[in-house]
Amino acid sequence: MKRLDGRYALVTGGSTGIGRAIAIRFAQEGANVAINYHSSGEEAELTREEVETACSTIREYGCEEMVVQANVAREDDVQAMFARVLDAWGRIDILVNNAGIQKAAPTEDMSVSDYDKVLAVNLRGSFLCAREAIRHFLARGQGGVIINDSSVHQIIPKPTFTPYAVSKAGMGNLTRTLALEYAGRGIRVNAVGPGAIATPMNKAWVEDPEKKAEVESHIPIGRAGTPEEIAAVFAFLASDDASYITGQTVYACGGLTLYPDFRTAWSSPD
Ligand code: NAP
Repeated sequence: MKRLDGRYALVTGGSTGIGRAIAIRFAQEGANVAINYHSSGEEAELTREEVETACSTIREYGCEEMVVQANVAREDDVQAMFARVLDAWGRIDILVNNAGIQKAAPTEDMSVSDYDKVLAVNLRGSFLCAREAIRHFLARGQGGVIINDSSVHQIIPKPTFTPYAVSKAGMGNLTRTLALEYAGRGIRVNAVGPGAIATPMNKAWVEDPEKKAEVESHIPIGRAGTPEEIAAVFAFLASDDASYITGQTVYACGGLTLYPDFRTAWSSPD
């Protein structure tokens, strides 16, 4: 018996990177998976290829898959996405709020539209999807699981990425607040806080050996994480192995949250 046998999961931003790895890992654990993505038009070509390979892997594991295009920042899109999945499957047991974006600029130059866009996808999107999932979980009366893809920047500041850091900090209290509000009604809400993971979001350093070495020099474990290492934490939190865990953020970050600058005793020199 696999840990997620017969469960139905919806993974937002599941076309690539961490979300794609979560979709595949969930299927490996026995879950049927609906993959959400956003891009449309010409830019979606690559996305479609990646989604199609993820779908065929899910089918190879003997699970069902479906693909739902939606912008999680839009209430109407999110409601239509849930309606489509529920029409097809009649149930969702696990929601993964993974869709996320970032925009970089010194804060004095950050535009309001970029600030709002990051907050809209990362934080409002997570709220909108969580709300639809909770409505369904309550109506069905069999509980459910929500897992938010947060970041080490839930607690570590990130200069020049202000909206991203603000969105992930907000995700921390979204997780805790929903966990407390629904703990008595069979709904568990947790988060995962990845560190530096080799995904398309980080292609600026992933594809440049020098920049990658610089990134990795800051990580106590000495290397970037893989999407699969993060997906394993999601699978644990989604499963009954985590049945007594709610309101927590599990940092999977190679030690980044351990104040790496304190590796040497610089603050108390001889
Ligand atoms: P990624 O490779 O850039 O993938 C982002 C995913 O989000 C894509 O599937 C994308 O779909 C989707 N997306 C973007 N905007 C969307 C929208 N408005 N509606 C629906 N889907 C949307 O990123 P990643 O590195 O895997 O990151 C995934 C999550 O992990 C994010 O929340 C990120 O903050 C978090 N995280 C990542 C790292 C890291 O080092 N990579 C570290 C900590 C936390 P399209 O391709 O269709 O646009």
